[in-house]
Amino acid sequence: MVNATIIIFVFLFAVSIGSFLNVVILRVPERQSLVTPPSHCPRCNYRLRWFDNIPLLSYIMLGGKCRKCREPISVQYPLIELMTGVLGLACYMHFGLTPAMVVFFVFCAILLAVTFIDIPYQIIPNGISIPGTIFGVAASFFVPQMNWQDSLIGAVAGFLIIFLTAYGYWFLTKREGIGMGDAKLLALLGAFLGWQAIPFILIASSFQGLLFFFVGLAFGLVKKAPPLPDPDEGPLPEKTENQEISVRHAAIPFGPFLALSGLEFLFFGRLILDVMTGWGG
Ligand SMILES: [Zn+2]
Repeated sequence: MVNATIIIFVFLFAVSIGSFLNVVILRVPERQSLVTPPSHCPRCNYRLRWFDNIPLLSYIMLGGKCRKCREPISVQYPLIELMTGVLGLACYMHFGLTPAMVVFFVFCAILLAVTFIDIPYQIIPNGISIPGTIFGVAASFFVPQMNWQDSLIGAVAGFLIIFLTAYGYWFLTKREGIGMGDAKLLALLGAFLGWQAIPFILIASSFQGLLFFFVGLAFGLVKKAPPLPDPDEGPLPEKTENQEISVRHAAIPFGPFLALSGLEFLFFGRLILDVMTGWGG
């Protein structure tokens, strides 16, 4: 089944999709066009030639710097290309050359884009999550590994669980805890993975988010939350350049942890369900 030529082809195809994801991550949250202007250096506006734009290779050949002004290029670009390549291979290993491989590679690509937009911007664009969810439900009618009832229930339940939690939290505290972006992301995860994935995703993402927070706290990467301002004292202070990060203010984006747990379920779902039902019985 697994063939060396196909492995190379899948990897090269996936890293070039990674290259496209870099453009999505850079431009979608800024509401810029994906096609114009062509890729350029943000400092000197040098327009990238095709040989400056080869996934992974160009970054290495340029030594991580702009060809013209030597401005360092973010390591995030080759990193996302590499991660997309690895996820492409993982989908091939898991599903073989099947429609499921294509559908779940799209799923992985969506999760990568969402993660790297949510980290700096703390938003999950509707332009990605809503069409992504519709695609997931639509695909479930054609992909044998999916089931449309599971997918539809997954999308609705995923949205409602976070929406109702957020509404309840807001109702009790008049503060926004978790965002609607996260509700739409869990809908997307439910659409692709089925409702059976949702308990694991909620538990695993919360656990991993907290673990990240406490490890970050121990290594001084995240700072402890300042006391919450009294809601009666007026509006919250404006965000500043080096705003303190805290779980209490939900300033650590939750989206990346939802996405990570979704990937864990995609590749280890059968094992996870076995363990979870084992606990139950
Ligand atoms: Zn430059």
